[in-house]
Amino acid sequence: MNDPIIEFNPKLPKLSKNEKEVLKLLVEAGRLIVPIYKEQEKQPSFSKEEIEKAAKGNPAILSPYTIVEKVNGKLIAIPYHKKYAELLKPIAEKLEQAAEITENKEFGSALRIQAKTLLDGSYEKATAVWLKMEPYILDISIGPLHHSDDRLEYGKASYHAWVGVLDKEGTERLNNYKTITLSASRKAPGAKEQIYPKKIKAIVLDEVLFAGIMARTKFVGLNLPVDLSLVEKYGVQVTLFNQVNDLRMKKQIIPTFDKIFSAKFREEFNLEDLRRGSLRYVALHELSHNYLYFKNSAKNLQDLFICIYELAATVLGIRLAGSLLLLDRITNKQLESMIVAFISRSFDLVEKYRKNKFLKNYASGGAIFINFMLESGALKQKEGMAIPNFMKIFVSLHELSYITERLLSSGTRKDAEVFIHKYS
Ligand SMILES: [Zn+2]
Repeated sequence: MNDPIIEFNPKLPKLSKNEKEVLKLLVEAGRLIVPIYKEQEKQPSFSKEEIEKAAKGNPAILSPYTIVEKVNGKLIAIPYHKKYAELLKPIAEKLEQAAEITENKEFGSALRIQAKTLLDGSYEKATAVWLKMEPYILDISIGPLHHSDDRLEYGKASYHAWVGVLDKEGTERLNNYKTITLSASRKAPGAKEQIYPKKIKAIVLDEVLFAGIMARTKFVGLNLPVDLSLVEKYGVQVTLFNQVNDLRMKKQIIPTFDKIFSAKFREEFNLEDLRRGSLRYVALHELSHNYLYFKNSAKNLQDLFICIYELAATVLGIRLAGSLLLLDRITNKQLESMIVAFISRSFDLVEKYRKNKFLKNYASGGAIFINFMLESGALKQKEGMAIPNFMKIFVSLHELSYITERLLSSGTRKDAEVFIHKYS
């Protein structure tokens, strides 16, 4: 497997000399994540039974931030910051150096706290500081990342880094979507079980570097943290990545688009429509996660939770695009482009990533979406080509959104199993 690092070369806004120097140090810090993540990739895993048994006498075994090892036949937990201390030290030093020279005091102090966190494991404090900070032209996220797939029992966080420069225009647009969709979603009668984040910080980046788990998953958007108690206490950050979206366009969406739609249909959409459509549906997906927190859904749906949760966010996201349409923030064509990008992505996922450990839940979600649309007649297949009827898709999405939200708010694992089995 190739090294878990991607360096991008985006067209950046004009940076000051100081900003350029700080950016260079941040990139150097990010690169140093690679050896740690490679160590993590080599780790053996233990059976659920073995873990549960060992955790009875030692709850640290279950922490997302410990590595579990077998010593003399017994499972023990070692905190990440101790296990990787030698490799983390130079990273913290780079962050300190960046903190030393940056002209933005708030950013500097956040970098110092981040450096300390890497070495002593005080992750909550760093989370609180980054969420509180106003968006700055430079952005970095570095350390163990607890992403949604590891929220299932015993998931371990993986080391990651991203470094990027703020896309001001994109960030403004995203915040605009946030305001509109947030008020639209709250018009629905909320279930008692629902949790709302303290605040939602939303930024779009031109990323310069992805390292560790981020280079493997290549997510176009993220909504972090995943821990609900932190979400309630400090809020969340939605981050979108322009360059990874371009990569996804080139490698997945366009080839699939060319394959599954007729030449006549394709004429209606240009590449820019699709590129924006892809980024838009991801943006609304990430925002929608924040309108879908229910206290017990992970516990109730167990191993099927992530699949339902991810699908529900995409479906609600496209539905909420309806409120952008009503306000003339997007056009019909732009809404259609979002749906076309998602259909293309879904076909690609189903075909290639059913067995991929990072993407299998998204692939099942994609399969459910396609089959649901085929069943309702909103999507038809003829001579190997897909024929979508956008009006019908939009109507059908309401139904799918209702079902997935019901599963999240009050469904059982059995309910989810029946649903997934029927459509996946
Ligand atoms: Zn998601």
